[in-house]
Amino acid sequence: MKQWVCVLVQTPAHAALGSVLSYQSDRPLAPGTLVRVPLGKRETLGVVWDADAAQATGEVDPGKIKSIAGVLEGIAPLNTAWQSLLTFAAQYYQRSVGEVTLAALPPQLRELSPVQMQRRLARSKPKPTPTGPDTLQGANAPCLTPEQNSAVEQIQTNPGPFLLFGATGSGKTEVYLHCVQTLLERDPNAQALVMVPEINLTPQLEARFRQRFAPTYGDDAVVSLHSGMTNPQRLKSWLASHTGATRIVLGTRMAIFASMPTLRLIVVDEEHDPSYKSGEGARYSARDLAVYRGRLEGAKVVLGSATPSLESWHHSRPGADGGRYLRLHMPSRVGQADTLPLVRRVDMNHQPRNAVFSIPLLEAIKARIARGEQCMVFLNRRGYAPVLHCADCGWKSECPHCSAYRVFHKIDRTLRCHHCGFTERVPRACPSCGNPDIAPLGRGTERLEEHLTELLADVRRPDSVSPEFPAGVPVRVARIDADTTRLRGELESQLAAVHAGDVDVLVGTQMIAKGHDFRRISLVAAINPDGALFSSDFRAPERLFGLLMQASGRAGRDAALGTSAEMWVQTFQPAHPLYAALKRHDYPAFAEQQLKERSQAGLPPFSAQALVRAEARTQDIAQGFLRAASEAAKSSDIAQITLYPAVPMTIQRIANIERAQMLVESPSRAALQRFLTGWQTVLQTTRQSPAGKGLVRWAIDVDPLAI
Ligand code: ADP
Ligand code: ZN
Ligand code: ZN
Repeated sequence: MKQWVCVLVQTPAHAALGSVLSYQSDRPLAPGTLVRVPLGKRETLGVVWDADAAQATGEVDPGKIKSIAGVLEGIAPLNTAWQSLLTFAAQYYQRSVGEVTLAALPPQLRELSPVQMQRRLARSKPKPTPTGPDTLQGANAPCLTPEQNSAVEQIQTNPGPFLLFGATGSGKTEVYLHCVQTLLERDPNAQALVMVPEINLTPQLEARFRQRFAPTYGDDAVVSLHSGMTNPQRLKSWLASHTGATRIVLGTRMAIFASMPTLRLIVVDEEHDPSYKSGEGARYSARDLAVYRGRLEGAKVVLGSATPSLESWHHSRPGADGGRYLRLHMPSRVGQADTLPLVRRVDMNHQPRNAVFSIPLLEAIKARIARGEQCMVFLNRRGYAPVLHCADCGWKSECPHCSAYRVFHKIDRTLRCHHCGFTERVPRACPSCGNPDIAPLGRGTERLEEHLTELLADVRRPDSVSPEFPAGVPVRVARIDADTTRLRGELESQLAAVHAGDVDVLVGTQMIAKGHDFRRISLVAAINPDGALFSSDFRAPERLFGLLMQASGRAGRDAALGTSAEMWVQTFQPAHPLYAALKRHDYPAFAEQQLKERSQAGLPPFSAQALVRAEARTQDIAQGFLRAASEAAKSSDIAQITLYPAVPMTIQRIANIERAQMLVESPSRAALQRFLTGWQTVLQTTRQSPAGKGLVRWAIDVDPLAI
């Protein structure tokens, strides 16, 4: 007997439309079953979906229904919880469930023939654990500190979700390891998901987890899942997780969609990190989905950070509208006399004009080098100089395709647009007036490295640095940023050079401020962080504070150096409350002050926001589309909804496409969701109307991070 089945396929369309198709099958297929189906002239991967949940639209002509091409044999259907997670994610982020679901599966599932798939499956069969799970007690696990013990105990005795608010180096990772270990011991099937914000951080973490768990549970117990892996690697990890062969999945934001049939614990490390929010397709927040998924599957959720997002901090405030998360505090660093780095503010108003390094900072760096210690200097702008400029006629290195300047990269003498990638060789003379004397304006990491090398040219290494490196050699300044780490393995080798003591001063972008454990760095300096204080983006201060706290956490992780670690901030605003709170390492004070401002201004987390972005050939078309959709929305019920005017985006033009956006805000998340769901149809209709003519694309960003 032929059966009808609903099948999700990949469609680039917007929510609800066109991603659920009907097919015939010889036998009933459970929702979640992976199938191959004909679609137009090709055959594609599909997922059988619950007919009711999918709300298959439109009348179907029984005569026209095609049969499915086949079932991916040997792969168990994705479970109900997974289906619910994907359904929710699609609804909440206003995308089609087909798009979100198919994107959440490893790409190779789409490509492999049945025979190839069988081979992969055979290889991913669970292997027996080398030693019985009763011989464990990971021999290499340290005794927990009292703070760690208390956090672990709270996690074990409460439902959560938890916000583990722990200083850098307070041993948060050790808490995660311990929770995972207890879980695996108690439940022979349980799986844990541990997420980190950046691919770069996964090898470190994987090594630590592997070291802890492989001796007891075997090499297959831990797998990684992130976009830096090859497709075969991704499929392998995915299958290991889906079959339950692996117990621990480590990954970046995409790992939130891993199929884990026995998921019992989710850890989101550095939960404040913006990388958890996707910047394309369904713009989901893996952190927020983690909390949802935890509730859905009865898994405990631990969010960890030294500088939590203000959203999570708010949710963990005891009292009226907070209190949804349980806050666990670990203020002390492990293995040190509880010393956080001393924060020093240099008032740049009293330094020579145009000085990049203030005199006292330069002296401090030299003193550290003389003691055989390392320094780290960071600046959030890569390249040599942000602009090339002609003083005669005023020409600047604008990108012809974007409303942005191209950045001068001296190393290969190019002007590169960091938005569209357009790259040209630096002109010999001003393209506009012929003046040969065009000069860099401003400063990026490349120029900073060069400048610092000059300033330290006369300094020699002391005897004591490391036995491998002779005394008396010139100081080595090295740089780590997106430009120096483009190729696979470069970051690792550069980090290794820092660890080996081969580098005296490390210059870089925020990339070096995150997560890496530099034991011998005793001084960290932020050269010019003031910009964020006056940004139009209301989240800029939060990001700056987090970054500076993280950077300061890089200093003095070695117990021997810990007592004298310093964080330097060069600023024209030394009295600013943000720096005052930083000096006291007082995140709670900073957070309370920010939340007060946000509450008064009705900003998140006290309101919910969504952005609609439109891209078109002209700004008029982009804005016209948004205005038309906004007008059309006003005829329906928009109680509790504020529709702001359409405006150009901060970077208005990229690669010759004009970009506009419109903010939608509501004090109620539910009201905003209802509005957006209804508005989808309006936007689709507007797209088809004259107002949509010339529009390239539009998209909704729910809970946008940058406005
Ligand atoms: P965080 O994740 O909070 O930055 P980690 O868990 O990485 O902190 O711990 C910082 C350092 O302290 C690591 O080198 C770790 O091995 C060590 N450490 C953590 N907990 C303990 C402990 N209970 N006893 C000894 N060393 C510990
Ligand atoms: Zn000129
Ligand atoms: Zn450009």
